[in-house]
Amino acid sequence: MEQYEVIVIGRGAAGLSSALVFGRSKRKMLVLDANAARNSVTHASHGYLTRDGGVKPESFKSIGLSEIKAYPTVSYVETKVTALEKEEGVFTVQTDNGKSYASRRVVVAAGMREELPAIIGLQNVYGSTVFPCPYCDGWERKDEPLAIFGNEPWLIHYVKLIYNWSQDLIVFTNGAAALSEEDRKDLRGHGVELVEEAIEELISTEGRLQQVVMVSGEAYHRSGGFIMDTGESQAFSLDHFGVDYTDMGGVATEEGAKTAVKGLYVIGDTKNVFSGLLKATSEGYEVAAEINHEMAMEDWERGGVS
Ligand SMILES: Cc1cc2nc3c(=O)[nH]c(=O)nc-3n(C[C@H](O)[C@H](O)[C@H](O)COP(=O)(O)OP(=O)(O)OC[C@H]3O[C@@H](n4cnc5c(N)ncnc54)[C@H](O)[C@@H]3O)c2cc1C
Repeated sequence: MEQYEVIVIGRGAAGLSSALVFGRSKRKMLVLDANAARNSVTHASHGYLTRDGGVKPESFKSIGLSEIKAYPTVSYVETKVTALEKEEGVFTVQTDNGKSYASRRVVVAAGMREELPAIIGLQNVYGSTVFPCPYCDGWERKDEPLAIFGNEPWLIHYVKLIYNWSQDLIVFTNGAAALSEEDRKDLRGHGVELVEEAIEELISTEGRLQQVVMVSGEAYHRSGGFIMDTGESQAFSLDHFGVDYTDMGGVATEEGAKTAVKGLYVIGDTKNVFSGLLKATSEGYEVAAEINHEMAMEDWERGGVS
């Protein structure tokens, strides 16, 4: 079985960033990735300083991959991790290429998977003109006629936020809205229409939303929108380690990226559910510096004169 000082699961912004610091710290480390990131649907990521013009997620990752590969102690294998176990202080990682890898430290940066609500036509516009995060894509959709899809308890808060980018909003709850009278009045007062009827389908052309059509046949012109609930769950389950989860569904940590399991760390969307590229990158940097610091102290002790 191949042995490493650190294994990182996931080569998104978080995993790649940690690998860069590990490589620059001369650590023998391995990155494993299934090539199944949830942001692969989007054509351009925004809001990352120096890449704000819009960088394709795959291009962001291939630049990162070529940078980490420059370090001789860094290895990368494209494969899905199927199992992660720990015995006597050592983690064993199994992958669907039939191999096993061992390490005393594992960083999980596997992100989230999504299961979009079953609305006909949503898949065609998600990541093109309908998005989950206004900070990522609000500027590109500013002042447009937008749809807001969702019926979560924090709907009113989400609407107030999106209103920052466009005041031409229609909220589609796809069924009876879970809103108080006060919230409904608040929406009316801000000129935000609320449509509670079930959605029949979304009509689009090459990813550009055109109309939201209701079961009654009534159609609303919208050129884009935001969706609250994308059916997120952990891409790689750590349930068997007895980890706790935050209310949002991220893996709870004790401090920084440390979980209650010694040697097991979580960063990026695995920890935050939605980090954004910059935070994910920063957490990768931080965890690698923390782990390397710990290892450097241990190496010093081992090599010390008694
Ligand atoms: C539609 C959309 C648009 C977005 N737009 C923006 C934007 O414009 N700006 C911005 O800052 N943020 C944006 N985000 C958010 C951003 O993409 C994420 O917050 C960020 O990618 C999180 O990085 P990460 O490294 O934690 O996870 P990810 O980038 O999701 O990477 C996780 C990696 O883990 C791998 N993986 C998962 N399971 C396994 C397994 N079992 N074995 C091996 N590998 C595995 C996946 O293949 C993936 O490569 C967007 C998100 C979405 C969904």
